[in-house]
Amino acid sequence: MPLKWTVQDSAKLYAIEEWGDGYFGTNPKGRIIAIPTRDESTSIDLYEAVLRLKKLGIQTPVTLRFPQILEGRIKEINLAFKKAINDFNYNSDYSSIYPVKTNQIKEVVQEIVKAGNDYKLGLECGSKPELILALSMNLNPDSLILCNGYKDEGFIRMALLARKTGRRIVITVEKMSELPVILKIAKSLKVKPLIGLRAKLNAQGSGKWETSAGDHAKFGLTTREILEAVAILSKKKMLDSIIELHFHIGSQITDIRKVKIAVKEATRIYAKLRKMGIPIEYMNVGGGLAVDYDGSKTTFTSSMNYTVEQYASDVVYNTKDICKMEDVPVPHLLTESGRALTAYHELVIVDVIGLIDTTHSRYSVEISGKEIQIIKDLAYIRDNIGPKNYSEMYSDALSSKDEINSLFNLGYLSLEDRSKGETLFWEILRKISKILTHKSIKYIPEEFRDLNKSLADKFIANFSIFQTIPDHWAIEHLFPVAPIHRLKEKPTLSATLCDITCDSDGTIEKFVDLKDVRDEIPLHEPTDEPYFIGIFLTGAYQDILGMRHNLFGAPSEVFMIAEEDDNFRIDKVIPAETIDDMLRSVHYNPESMGRISINGRKIKTKIDASEDLHSLIIKHRGSHTYLSSEED
Ligand SMILES: *Cc1c(COP(=O)(O)O)cnc(C)c1O
Repeated sequence: MPLKWTVQDSAKLYAIEEWGDGYFGTNPKGRIIAIPTRDESTSIDLYEAVLRLKKLGIQTPVTLRFPQILEGRIKEINLAFKKAINDFNYNSDYSSIYPVKTNQIKEVVQEIVKAGNDYKLGLECGSKPELILALSMNLNPDSLILCNGYKDEGFIRMALLARKTGRRIVITVEKMSELPVILKIAKSLKVKPLIGLRAKLNAQGSGKWETSAGDHAKFGLTTREILEAVAILSKKKMLDSIIELHFHIGSQITDIRKVKIAVKEATRIYAKLRKMGIPIEYMNVGGGLAVDYDGSKTTFTSSMNYTVEQYASDVVYNTKDICKMEDVPVPHLLTESGRALTAYHELVIVDVIGLIDTTHSRYSVEISGKEIQIIKDLAYIRDNIGPKNYSEMYSDALSSKDEINSLFNLGYLSLEDRSKGETLFWEILRKISKILTHKSIKYIPEEFRDLNKSLADKFIANFSIFQTIPDHWAIEHLFPVAPIHRLKEKPTLSATLCDITCDSDGTIEKFVDLKDVRDEIPLHEPTDEPYFIGIFLTGAYQDILGMRHNLFGAPSEVFMIAEEDDNFRIDKVIPAETIDDMLRSVHYNPESMGRISINGRKIKTKIDASEDLHSLIIKHRGSHTYLSSEED
């Protein structure tokens, strides 16, 4: 007798503990829980959370944010560096710099700054608006603000004006043409600039972002350019303005060896510059600290083969090692980790609103004996196919299927015949899929590689890929996906997820897996009850890259704080973007459109979005939720 399916089986199937990394797990009720403090006594049952939100009028899809996770990440990385500094007797310090482009949402940056102030966390910005938001934060006065990216005169002027007020703003020179502009504006404003030099390293990252470094990278100065910058500043007796050496070899560095190689190369450059009498104080190793999205702990693009502690330890050790060889003082280390700080704090919960059963997975043909021969042939194949004959039988089935098509098109077959033929063919494919898992099958023929994908059901969920996980569409980035409840039941279907955009790209057909990438995900047979699916680890980059395809706007956002005894509190709700917002975003004026009526029924486009939870119940209609919400 097969053993009973348990929550542990589901946890294993979806690899929840592995990608959850202490922040997500399961409870005995068969639900996924969030554990924002990594202390199991303060967990949040996600299913209960969604039900409570629904009572308050906040519909799915919904974005949940856990500020406590942001706080925890800041502590973790800072403590890891403190420990490494102690372990290796490193004679300087470490500070985190948060690159705001990862997630600029005010509450997110505020939480990071609040949690980081004890550690003198700084901010990195790459544009004028990002600089302004960084300046508006309540940073520790000793904290740095770094300006990276391409800078025009306006950006440089803004940075130098703020420098004039005493803020520690460093302008990182990414290309040579910026230097004369910095010097010119600094002179006219009578302010001494703080300058960083971004080095183009030979060392490259790994994974999807590896072109951020190397000879052909978009950013950074070559060795010759660094020397030229030094010569220019030396002539102006401004060598002491150079306080930082920076590099960034790309995001999601999956292999720790790449980090070591880059740190060694950069430390050599630092050391040589020190020896030329340039008092560089900071060495900034950039971002790239990865997130283990699939939990496999490998160098696969969705994973990483190291921990935060190992990262800190390798950066500190290798910097010290090279400095010792070169006989120069060690630098104050900076990292610009964005992804690693923010990815875990956010998830999106969507609900399944339908199922497309193209493969007739719930049907089986019963043969009465009165069928035409070709149908009987297919039924014979279905009943007799096995590990020894599946290949020949499959080609017989294929020719029968083609014949059925031709006969139908010539008018010889009834709809009934055609339907039976199609269903039998799917039944045969399902049998082959089972056969291929048989122990005696050592090799899966090419023609069957995509079999499971074509057999998968399509679950339709109320969300837009382009809005929620744009990186999945753009660069096939993988995010963990799993139902947040019913984990005590064995999932009997295998499915892909479709969104509600009218775009055939609006699907998730690649899922995380500990060993590989899956083409489908096991899901439960729908019932009359709602079925909720979580898309996890979406806190880095997805919010701001999210697009308005089909004019689906951002879902409601809820900031949740976990409390003792598995309780939680809603800290803040940001209502979903409304139909009104979306129309305005493409230059319509919904007020004048509110007069449109069809058959005498006025179309309502003006929707109030209020932060008052009670009025949310009736007033708030996200553009997302109108598919499933009641009529006005
Ligand atoms: C984007 C970026 C980062 C952040 O990288 P993560 O991989 O998110 O840590 C850091 N520094 C620079 C210069 C960047 O462009």
